[in-house]
Amino acid sequence: MSVLDLDAETTAAVERAADALAGHRVAVLTGAGVSTDSGIPDYRGKGAPVRTPMTAQQFLADDSSRRRYWVGSHLGWRTFAAAAPNEGHRALAALEHAGIASGVITQNVDGLHVRAGSRRVVELHGTMRRVSCLHCGQVFDRRDLAVRIERDNPWITVPENVELGPDGDVLPAASDGFVVPDCSVCGGMLKPEVVFFGEYIPLEKFREAEQLVRSSTALLIAGSSLVVNSGIRLLDRARRRRLPIVIVNRGETRGDTRATVKIDAGTSEVLTVLGRELAGR
Ligand SMILES: [Zn+2]
Repeated sequence: MSVLDLDAETTAAVERAADALAGHRVAVLTGAGVSTDSGIPDYRGKGAPVRTPMTAQQFLADDSSRRRYWVGSHLGWRTFAAAAPNEGHRALAALEHAGIASGVITQNVDGLHVRAGSRRVVELHGTMRRVSCLHCGQVFDRRDLAVRIERDNPWITVPENVELGPDGDVLPAASDGFVVPDCSVCGGMLKPEVVFFGEYIPLEKFREAEQLVRSSTALLIAGSSLVVNSGIRLLDRARRRRLPIVIVNRGETRGDTRATVKIDAGTSEVLTVLGRELAGR
């Protein structure tokens, strides 16, 4: 990515954003848009396949839903786990290391901010890295679980290049006979540590996000259309304190009219240029 990739209008908007954020301690809020360049689709973005993620109610209600979930998750897992952080993730980590960003609040469950080197990361919707037992609370590493799933379902072949769904899953052709992993300690039901569609964000997670915004003097929102209410609520916290708010997102967001500067462009290139600009001031 280079400055040359940005058109004149975007370059001017980045300048204004840097003016607004310069000298501030910046809280960052990110959504699916920052991970699309890493190959993880944004199901709310333009051109996204129409897919409805499984709700927690469906997941908890019956065996066949859980089988469908786990088959899809297993088929998509390797591709999901192989996704690497992109320039946008790295630019945000660099901003934190430079003492400009106070941390990242993310709606993503891919763990890419952590892998890019961000230290203070609030994963609002949880993480795919861990799975826990709903009965005894035992926590498992998703990678270990993938090994177990393969062992218990040797007949399943994972396609090479899969098209990932929003939950890092693949629509399975069939799930009959699939052995769903259970807790190796108590035999209880396992659930990935992610907030499912239609499920509430744990209160302490939201408090942690609020705390990060409260300890900051500006807010940078990247790759989120702010459809999820928690995002809008955090934006309103910042707005009430009259903090500068910069939004970087391809396409409209619910916060556009409340932003100090809105940059309608891809996050990888914009965050790279914005980061360099801020570091130089
Ligand atoms: Zn258990």
